[in-house]
Amino acid sequence: MRIVSQNDAGRFTKRCASFSLTMRIVFLPPAGKSVKTYSPNTQHTMNQTLTSASPKGKITQHRDTKNTEIYILPAIHKIKNSVPSVPLCLISILLMTSHFSAAQNENVITFDVGSIALTVLSEGQQQGRTSILIGTTEEMLAKTAPDGTFPNACNAFLMENAGKIILFDAGYGRKLFDNIKSVGKTESDVDAIVLTHMHGDHIGGLLRDGQKAFPQAELYIPQAEHDYWMSDAAGNRATQARNVIAAYKDRLRLFTPGEIDDTKELLPGIHPVAAYGHTPGHTGYMLESDGKKLFLWGDLTHAMAVQMPYPQVSVTYDTDPKMAAAYRLKLLKYVSDNDIRIAGMHNAFPALGHVKANATGGYTHTPVCECEGR
Ligand SMILES: [Zn+2]
Repeated sequence: MRIVSQNDAGRFTKRCASFSLTMRIVFLPPAGKSVKTYSPNTQHTMNQTLTSASPKGKITQHRDTKNTEIYILPAIHKIKNSVPSVPLCLISILLMTSHFSAAQNENVITFDVGSIALTVLSEGQQQGRTSILIGTTEEMLAKTAPDGTFPNACNAFLMENAGKIILFDAGYGRKLFDNIKSVGKTESDVDAIVLTHMHGDHIGGLLRDGQKAFPQAELYIPQAEHDYWMSDAAGNRATQARNVIAAYKDRLRLFTPGEIDDTKELLPGIHPVAAYGHTPGHTGYMLESDGKKLFLWGDLTHAMAVQMPYPQVSVTYDTDPKMAAAYRLKLLKYVSDNDIRIAGMHNAFPALGHVKANATGGYTHTPVCECEGR
């Protein structure tokens, strides 16, 4: 099964129109107690908690806080028994979502990049505020974030390749350990941790009770990032980064990334790519296996809804907003020109997608999850 894709959702929206349904794709929870909905039009995701379980064999209809209709489907075998009463479009939605219904943890999605298995470990979905954006106009915001917010998330990623387990960033550490457990791994199984940068929402899960949480892992940090946080320039925000560096001091691996078309490997299948500006050493990673690529771009964006159409927009968290914008423009062009899938640490569910240049000088992001075979 696959899919969460804007294109496919568009097709189903058309079909559903004849049934006068509000189109949302519903991800079934294993327990039937809570659902996540995804709106392909706004790329907005939300959690919905049910007050009661869905009746057997029936489609139940609920409304969220914005009075939007949400359709909640019972388990797949039950739906098959009641096909005559089920509109075609809802069966289609069910088929699209059955992969996710099988998952034991809705914060975790595994997909393939060639023979690499890459798993999104989400710390949660949230709404960011446009007050963090630099370089916007009223017109831009009216088009892209009219209520002053945009969807975003906090994600880490776990990669399995050739018997090695590699963690990219560690989120806040709120759901990280449960997420790792839900894919059948433990912290001791992680061979390496590779960081995009050292902000707290990326290194929070590296320590537990002041000790390293991943006892066997080597910690890969871009040299410029390490040097920045160890310098006076980082100021009094450096404590967390310095504690991490101290805890992993016997397993530190410092490196300097190349540019996007550089093929120098850091570890098998992983090419580090300079994406400076958000922090002095901020680094993305091109993953490659069996001719397939995915660019894991870290914090190249925080507000996809705004920064895709207007990639020149930076955020107040950037240490060098101009450099961040320059790298964003360069890297977006590359992945668009070369048709490379992307994933990001702050991209809302499902956290990965395709980017294409549009006619107005910006980019269009299509969220997509191709999860076949997993
Ligand atoms: Zn971040």
